[in-house]
Amino acid sequence: SLALFFQARRRQRLAAKDQFEPRPIELRSDEVLKGVTGLIGNTPLIRINSLSNALGVEILGKAEFLNPGGSVKDRVALRMIDDAETVGLLHPYTGSRIFEGTVGSTGISIATIARARGYDVTIIMPDDVADEKEKALHALGADIERVRPASINHAGRNFDSKPYQNVARQRALEFGRDFSSDRLHLVQAPSSMVVSTSGDEENSDDLMNKPRGFFADQFENRSNHDAHYDGTGPEIWRQTNGSVNAFVSGAGTGGTVAGVGRFLKSMNEQIIVAISDPEGSGLYNKIKYGVMFDSKESEGTKRRHQVDTVVEGIGINRLTDNISLALPIVDDAFRITDVEAVAMSRYLVQHDGLFLGSSSACNLLACIKLARKMEWKEGQTIVTILCDSGNRHYSKFWNDEYLEKAGIPIDPELVTQLLSSS
Ligand code: PMP
Repeated sequence: SLALFFQARRRQRLAAKDQFEPRPIELRSDEVLKGVTGLIGNTPLIRINSLSNALGVEILGKAEFLNPGGSVKDRVALRMIDDAETVGLLHPYTGSRIFEGTVGSTGISIATIARARGYDVTIIMPDDVADEKEKALHALGADIERVRPASINHAGRNFDSKPYQNVARQRALEFGRDFSSDRLHLVQAPSSMVVSTSGDEENSDDLMNKPRGFFADQFENRSNHDAHYDGTGPEIWRQTNGSVNAFVSGAGTGGTVAGVGRFLKSMNEQIIVAISDPEGSGLYNKIKYGVMFDSKESEGTKRRHQVDTVVEGIGINRLTDNISLALPIVDDAFRITDVEAVAMSRYLVQHDGLFLGSSSACNLLACIKLARKMEWKEGQTIVTILCDSGNRHYSKFWNDEYLEKAGIPIDPELVTQLLSSS
């Protein structure tokens, strides 16, 4: 048996030696990405197998949760900072500070990139925002200022975000003032970026090196749209060989739907652009009836003031510049209830192993509704955005206890019914 043992070991060694035979590998010099920003964008497009198989329509999701900051907002944050640097509103390593008012992922994306570029960051947020977002911001070294809770307005969504947007704008101005001798020099950039600095001559070296306060202003900043018009949109076109029939997206600032939608329409006017709108958002009504009003308004004030919604990041009740860019090219809208969004998120884990956030769930629900409405057959393709992962949503959307208290049932069968109903 000892002989057998040595024989086996000899065979093992020979097999191991085989593995050292050099194999031909194509050499690439462009595969090393330059720092964390190199990881942003160029996300894969994945087929949602369960939905595509059931519908006979290709449902494809852009895996934006794979961005280093964990969401589609990395693209926007990078573009806003790049553009501000290009037009000379921000200069790395001068002690400048970026300000933004956000409940969402944009703060995390800005903080991520800011660290890599030598900027400080202040995020203004309502004090009822999900805990995990504040923890991430804290870890990234951002300063956080809490303002009055959004629940006074609209249940912790991005709705009525003006109050903390305005605080962020104010803080950016004050920051510049601190470095000014007696005058505040206000630079109004294209795309409505607000920047504060000090001095007399804009181009003097002295001014270049002064710390600046920069209000990123994702709602009104055109760079938001541009990130998607130049990035996300062309990627989708390339990845589908130009054979995309529809694009579905929620809208928080409107940047994604405006940028991707306008790009795709420019390539092929026939492509349908549809919005997935959560309960309580006014966009659905704006698109269907031309008037923007909260879907819960008619139900009286009691419901409206309650923190009763679980979808974060999409839905809006005012016309931002980015939404306004999108409106002329939006063909359709679908209202998605909280119950449907929750059902979809659980269904996707069960059937596809995909653990996604609330806006991704809304988007995929809207894909089903669009596919059914169009009575599309084999070969048609709908593309949507998988904005972030479920791990950003443990305290609300992925918290069963929270949902129970909010009276939202967890019923993935609802999706099965939607898929099979005719
Ligand atoms: N999903 C999530 C998770 C978000 O944070 C956002 C941004 N608020 C969106 C979707 C919507 O994207 P946009 O701002 O481009 O409309």
